[in-house]
Amino acid sequence: MIRVPKWLKRTNRIPVKKHGIALAMFDEDAVSAVRRLQKAGFEAYVVGGAVRDLLLDIVPKDFDISTNATPTEVRRLFRRSRIIGRRFQIVHLYFYRGKKMRIIEVTTFRADGDEVISDENSGRILQDNLFGSASDDAVRRDFTCNALFYEPTTENIIDYTGGYDDIRRGRLRLIGAPAIRFRQDPVRLLRALRLGVKLNLTISQATQKTFALYAPLLTAITTSRLFDEFAKIINSGASANIIQRCAECGITDHILPAVSSGGDFFMNALKKADLRHQSGKDISLSFIIAALFWMPVRCRWLALQQEGMLSVAAMEQALEAANFPANNIVPRRVVARAVDLYFLVARFVGKVTLRRTRGVLRNPLFDRAIAFGTLCGGDIEPEVVQWWSDYQLAGDDERKTMIATKNPGTPNR
Ligand code: ATP
Ligand code: MG
Repeated sequence: MIRVPKWLKRTNRIPVKKHGIALAMFDEDAVSAVRRLQKAGFEAYVVGGAVRDLLLDIVPKDFDISTNATPTEVRRLFRRSRIIGRRFQIVHLYFYRGKKMRIIEVTTFRADGDEVISDENSGRILQDNLFGSASDDAVRRDFTCNALFYEPTTENIIDYTGGYDDIRRGRLRLIGAPAIRFRQDPVRLLRALRLGVKLNLTISQATQKTFALYAPLLTAITTSRLFDEFAKIINSGASANIIQRCAECGITDHILPAVSSGGDFFMNALKKADLRHQSGKDISLSFIIAALFWMPVRCRWLALQQEGMLSVAAMEQALEAANFPANNIVPRRVVARAVDLYFLVARFVGKVTLRRTRGVLRNPLFDRAIAFGTLCGGDIEPEVVQWWSDYQLAGDDERKTMIATKNPGTPNR
């Protein structure tokens, strides 16, 4: 159990005059949900990432609520809500704005206490559904900057862990000792690296030094949780730097060894993803996964073509030889999409007929394959990718001419 030092539990109320975040910056639905809980006699706050992000001048992704009402009590107060039982029970509130549906998560204050069921040997938390007070809930959170509570009626921020000062000083500080907190839940290592890089917060040298030590514990985490974290990194807008840091700390060797062989190609795909994020575009996880495993696949694919094999057949054999999809944290559906992308890219190469091009153009992954082909540099001749890109935009007559000139001497059908 975490013994929380008394000083850590000292409440600090930060008035709006000092923190400067206007009530209007908070999501209306979240504020009204907090008020409804308070009216029913419960304690309730906006917590976590939203308060942190607003203090850092970042627009929050979502607004979570924490309360002393139990999941059943919350459920009773909100008609459009549902109890979700993942690692611990939370309530989803559904809000509709026009046709758009939004979800606000409500969690009940939890405590890390003696009753927490944890693995004797590893210290890992296996189940924690023990309810507690607001201050218990604050100290069981991962970092001080994530443990701030906002109370919309008084507009105070309530700070039990010194998170406000840490944010103002640009620090990401773990709540409690690394030996306890990282062993309890090694995913906090990934969260530390992601939040540190993304929010430009500094992690103390002493904590950073422990990363390599606890990284092997990540192998005990379920692949679905690890992939969720990976997806968060990819969608962070700072994925290239975060993955780079994870690799330096030896973390990726344990959970995604392919990163070390992904090379510049993978890094360039991440940089592209970060640029897409900046311009508000979606990032395809299967594209990133295709980029991650491209190097070994590519070598075989090119070698087999040199031996005279046709592109698509060479791709098939290359994927088999590279043992793709090998055992890893990537869910099967994402792997399947990555494989579809490889095959489409393979279909860019070689002789074209009107019928074949129709199939390629109709493929919903076409634009993605063009982007992938562009990233491939010399592996696929740039002219080939450009040809397909132009072909997509061309009219019927122009297409016929393009096919005739790409395959001189071959009939169009
Ligand atoms: P973001 O949503 O921007 O990725 P976040 O901090 O909101 O960051 P969530 O995964 O939404 O992250 O988690 C919400 C809150 O739950 C966090 O702010 C933190 O207080 C707490 N939390 C999440 N994961 C852990 C963990 N592994 N250990 C302890 N507390 C956690
Ligand atoms: Mg969040």
